[in-house]
Amino acid sequence: MKQLKALLINPYIYDFAAYSFWSSPLGLLYIGSILRKNHIDVSFIDCLRVNEKKRRADGRGPFIKEVVEKPEAIKGIKKKFRRYGISKEMLIDELIGIDQPDIILITSIMTYWYLGAKEVLEVVKGLFPASKIVIGGIYPTLCYEHATYVMKDADIIIKHGDLKIFYSFLEDLFSIDMPFKPDPYDFERLPYPAYDLYEKISFIPLLTSYGCIYRCPYCATPYMHPNIFRRDIGGVISEIEYWQDYGVENYVIYDDNFLSQKDKYASLLLKKIIELPFAVKIFNPNALNASLIDENIAHLLFNSGFKEVRLGLETIHPEKQKALGGKINNPLFERAVNFLFKAGFKPKDVSAYILAGLPFQKKDEVKDAIDYVSGIGVITHLAEYTPIPHTELFQRFKGYARYPIEEDPIFQNNALFPFAWECFTEEDLNALKLYCREKNEKIKEAP
Ligand code: SF4
Repeated sequence: MKQLKALLINPYIYDFAAYSFWSSPLGLLYIGSILRKNHIDVSFIDCLRVNEKKRRADGRGPFIKEVVEKPEAIKGIKKKFRRYGISKEMLIDELIGIDQPDIILITSIMTYWYLGAKEVLEVVKGLFPASKIVIGGIYPTLCYEHATYVMKDADIIIKHGDLKIFYSFLEDLFSIDMPFKPDPYDFERLPYPAYDLYEKISFIPLLTSYGCIYRCPYCATPYMHPNIFRRDIGGVISEIEYWQDYGVENYVIYDDNFLSQKDKYASLLLKKIIELPFAVKIFNPNALNASLIDENIAHLLFNSGFKEVRLGLETIHPEKQKALGGKINNPLFERAVNFLFKAGFKPKDVSAYILAGLPFQKKDEVKDAIDYVSGIGVITHLAEYTPIPHTELFQRFKGYARYPIEEDPIFQNNALFPFAWECFTEEDLNALKLYCREKNEKIKEAP
């Protein structure tokens, strides 16, 4: 029997702003490695390509981009709309060079990026009408009905965690018996994601857990992954050793609970990383919980190779902190920053995420937080609120957004500031971004 061929595609995206902060189609590449274990030939096109000349040594970099026409729904928005990644024509050129795949898997990450995935779906359907097409990723998981309506050309749409449905689909379609069908939460059986499909690996995401112990009202993690699964420490270390042979230096922790039960997990893992015979550089775009940072953890983070530490703070108002999940308070945040400084981190290496644009939030709340964080001497990242389906805030406030966020996910884009109102306008947000940048510049200049 001839070997089946699968093509994985990470689509280009349409957005007002985008930059690769270690973004990566991790789920798709896990699927790729599972398919390989089933003797299926796998190839990969990452349309969301970074401008390699401008990529930083730590792996971050700007996407290739081009200004494009806005779709009808957002015609009136006075901001430039761009495609990030290669063009449709470049994609077609690349597709023409490959044999027809038996199956094509397209991922779609942010809900408001579905236009790129839809366009890629149309392209592959036109070029390879006989190929079977699978759509997966966060968008169809959170907006399943919308995806089934918009992605009509797909043969199947898979929500995260529904791998059994995917396996049965393949087995029935090709009359095969797949010998390797791991559960997506079974870390011990999952093979390493197929990053070797990249010509050059700039960084490796290390998925160390699924799920979260908290239930923040704006976050979809508890909906996506209701239970917590933690990866075995030995498995993480083996994966680092494996990628070391590929010359990888940069690792990005994908973990929403990295420090929970820190004595049983993070501290042991970090000690093992310190014992490795080579140095690594570690980044954590998902914030660490500052309330769980003590002196020991701060030293372990520094010595294991964390190049920066991002902390979640969200707001500095105690009653709001409680309403957002009660994970942190200001004294604990300050204590964490002090431990990090003592361990060796510089002010420019420590930062805090502050939420901006929550429903009925006032601009002063955000300004107070910027003043507070910069007063402590660390960097502020404004995290602009994104309304995400299946979250508490989305359900409670969807009727108050200035766009129909439930009707069309394109309006869930935080760049549209869906919850702007008279006490926090777009102009206020732009002024705060500028204010924040100025404060951050001063901290970066500090010795
Ligand atoms: S925001 Fe972070 S801490 Fe809160 S539920 Fe989501 S992953 Fe957990």
